[in-house]
Amino acid sequence: MPATALPPEVLAKYEPVIGLEVHVQLLTATKAFCGCVNHFGSEPNTNICPVCLGLPGALPVLNAKAVEFATLAALAINCQVRERSIFARKNYFYPDLPKGYQISQYDKPVAEHGFIDVPTAKGTMKRIGITRLHMEEDAGKSLHDGFADSATRTYLDLNRCGTPLIEIVSEPDIRAPEEAFEYLTRLKEILLYTGVSDCNMEEGSLRSDANVSVMLKGAEKFGTKVEVKNVNSFRFVRAALEYEIERQIEVIESGGRVIQESRLWNADEGRTFSMRSKEQAHDYRYFPEPDLPPLIVSREFLERRRAELPELPEGRRARMIAEYDLSPQDAATLTASREFADRFEAAARTARNPRRVANVLLSEVGGRLKALGLEPEQSPVSMAGIVQAADLLDEGKISSKQLKQLFDISFEKREDFPTVYQREKPEQITDASAIELLIDQVIAANPKQVEQYRAGKTTIAGFFVGQVMKVSKGQANPALLNELVAKKLEG
Ligand SMILES: [Zn+2]
Repeated sequence: MPATALPPEVLAKYEPVIGLEVHVQLLTATKAFCGCVNHFGSEPNTNICPVCLGLPGALPVLNAKAVEFATLAALAINCQVRERSIFARKNYFYPDLPKGYQISQYDKPVAEHGFIDVPTAKGTMKRIGITRLHMEEDAGKSLHDGFADSATRTYLDLNRCGTPLIEIVSEPDIRAPEEAFEYLTRLKEILLYTGVSDCNMEEGSLRSDANVSVMLKGAEKFGTKVEVKNVNSFRFVRAALEYEIERQIEVIESGGRVIQESRLWNADEGRTFSMRSKEQAHDYRYFPEPDLPPLIVSREFLERRRAELPELPEGRRARMIAEYDLSPQDAATLTASREFADRFEAAARTARNPRRVANVLLSEVGGRLKALGLEPEQSPVSMAGIVQAADLLDEGKISSKQLKQLFDISFEKREDFPTVYQREKPEQITDASAIELLIDQVIAANPKQVEQYRAGKTTIAGFFVGQVMKVSKGQANPALLNELVAKKLEG
C-alpha cells in the first residue's frame, strides 16, 4: 500500500502525532435553528425555510433537543460542560452555504477537557484527551454527478443546511494509525449507546478528519501537520494515516520540508493528494452570533442529562465479564450494540443460569451464525429459544450433544428452538439400570483409565461420562450419568 519503501530502521526513528476531528449529526426531529425536518434522503430542497436558507430578516431559534443531545454526548466522553457558552459565526463563501457563514462555537464551546480510553497493541488501555466538543450547523450539499447537465453544472441540495452537529476534537495524543482506528471505534460506540446519532458514515452522519505530523522519537516539538480530510470509513482513516506517515518521513529523509496543507484520501489509489496549502486557507473571521443569546446550561438541566446517561460500553463490558463469566472477546461480542446487549440481558435474567445463556448464545448460536455468514438479527433462534435451550441443559433434560443436534435442525430448517424441541423432543435414557449397563461396557473397555482413576486422578471421570454419552448417542440423562459413573468407579 505505501508508495515508499523505507527500511524499517528508518521508519523506527520517527514517531507520528495524530489528532482527530469528528463531526456528528444529531438525531433530532428538526434542525438546529429552525423547525425544518432533519431527515436524510428527502427530495432535494424540500426541507428548507427562510432561516436555514439565511434569507434576510430570518432569525435562528436554538433547538433545545440539540442541546440535550450535545450535553449528553459531552458527559459520555467525560467532558466538563460549560455553564455559559457562545455561538459564533464562522464566515466563508461556498455555494452550499447560502448564509455565507456557519453558526458554530469558537472560544467558548459547550464542553471541554474530556477523554476516552482505548485499547493499545500491548493489551493495555490508553487515555486519549478530548480538547472540546462544540455545537454547530451543517452546510448543504453540492452535487456534482447524476443530473442532466452535471458535466457543466453543479447542483445544490440545501436540505442539510442547519442540521445540528457536534464536533469532537481530540488532543494530539494518538501515536499510531491503529490507535486512531480504536479511538474512532470507541467514540462511535459510545455515541451510539447514548442514542444522540445514528453514526451512519455512508449517509455522512459521522465524518472524520485527521491531523498528522511526524517527529524524531523523543523530540519535544511536533512536526508540521497535515490535515487529511473527508475520509469516509475508519479503515480508510487508518490506511490514510499509514500512507501519510510514510510520505512525511520520506520527505524529511530526502532533505525536504513537510508543507502544512490539507490533503484528500483517494481510496482507489491508496494515497493522499494535496488539496490546498495553508497560504490559501480560510480566515473565518469568527465573531459572536448576534442573533443568538449565550447558551446557558443550568445545573438542573445537566443533572437531568446525567440521569439519562446509559451504562456505557466499557463499563458494561467489565460488569458483564464478571456477571456472566465471559472472556473480554465474548463481552465485546455481546455488547456490540446496546440494543443487542439489552436483549441478551433481559433474556438471561429470566433463565435458571444466566451464564449458561451467554454460553449457548456465543458458542452454539454465534458459531453457527458465523459459519453461515449471518448477522445476529437473522438468527432463526430467538433469545427466548436460547433461554429455553439453556434451561433444558441446566436441568439435565437434554445433553449438550442433543442440544447441538437440535440447533443444527433449527438452522437447517430456519425454525426457532422451541418449535424444533417440541417436535423432535429427544429421547432420554433416564433408566438407571440401562445407563449402568453402558457404563459397565465402557469401564470394561478402558482398564487403564480405571486404574488412573483409582490411583487418584479423579478428573478422568469426565472421560467415562463422555464415552457413555457417545455410545448412548447423547441420550443418557447427564445428571444421572455423572452420578452413576462416580458410583461405579468408586466401587
Ligand atoms: Zn429551516
